[in-house]
Amino acid sequence: MKLEENVDLSRFTTIGTGGPARFFARPASLAELQELLGWARGEGMTVEVIGLGSNMLVHDDGVAALVLRLEGELAEAQVEGDVLVAGGGATNAVCLHRARDAGLGGFEFASAIPGTVGGGVRMNAGAYGSDWSAVMIDALVVDAESARSLTPSELGLSYRHSRLTPGQVVAQVRFRLEPRPVVAIKAHVTELLARRKATQPTTKRTFGSVFKNPSAEQGAGRLIEECGLKGHRIGGALISDRHANFIENAGGATSAEAIALMAEARRRVHERFGLELEHEVRFLGPLELPPV
Ligand SMILES: Cc1cc2nc3c(=O)[nH]c(=O)nc-3n(C[C@H](O)[C@H](O)[C@H](O)COP(=O)(O)OP(=O)(O)OC[C@H]3O[C@@H](n4cnc5c(N)ncnc54)[C@H](O)[C@@H]3O)c2cc1C
Repeated sequence: MKLEENVDLSRFTTIGTGGPARFFARPASLAELQELLGWARGEGMTVEVIGLGSNMLVHDDGVAALVLRLEGELAEAQVEGDVLVAGGGATNAVCLHRARDAGLGGFEFASAIPGTVGGGVRMNAGAYGSDWSAVMIDALVVDAESARSLTPSELGLSYRHSRLTPGQVVAQVRFRLEPRPVVAIKAHVTELLARRKATQPTTKRTFGSVFKNPSAEQGAGRLIEECGLKGHRIGGALISDRHANFIENAGGATSAEAIALMAEARRRVHERFGLELEHEVRFLGPLELPPV
């Protein structure tokens, strides 16, 4: 069991902010993962998992926890019949490649989601009318006591939500896909990526959507934009000019600055529309937003 200490997490988040993890480890098999979870239980240490850190904001002073990043066998993906079997640390990009090479469609919606399979379960990640719950058969969820296969409904998957709690690690996921010509998959992915590029700041450092949409009709980005906040900046953190539900690291941003921008956006949207925006981005460490 290899434990690293005080590992800078800003290297592992797409926004590029945040402090160190007290302990950090990269389990490469189920046995290593279970050993680490057992160790943390014995030490009374909280366990957190980081995927690609693409929907995560880490406290600038870091987090007093064991942070895990799944690698090796836990980050591989392969096709068995029409089922894609992927480790919790496998990236969506790898899964999409495996599925496409096997002529299996249904995972194209994830082409613009820069995360891992486990992060996708935690967030019930989705885009363009589909999400994890629509294609998942089940997930192997491991904690210090057990390893259980749970279905989307047992995981409580709904809009950007699951019932997973810290210490529960998604080690593997099975997706049911369907035969589709490779050219059709490629064309669909190209179309979705072009749509994404036209509307979102895909070349900037962000953590994806800041807030959940209050409803299908009320997008958080539109509400923030109508408050005149596009381009609003605090320190190195900037509300994107391209899409107001994204915060960009415009250079040297801190998590505290991102939180201050989020607080301002929530305050202004509440003042103008009477709505309380709920954050989609996950917080690691003692971060919180002030009440509106
Ligand atoms: C440019 C951009 C575009 C994006 N577009 C979309 C989009 O269209 N749709 C969408 O839904 N999201 C989108 N996102 C957000 C993000 O990519 C997704 O939420 C993604 O699923 C997060 O995966 P991750 O592996 O990076 O998770 P992280 O950001 O690393 O973690 C997110 C949460 O998942 C937990 N977690 C991670 N791995 C595991 C695991 N193995 N077991 C248990 N818990 C785990 C973490 O502890 C944390 O609570 C976007 C982000 C960016 C930067």
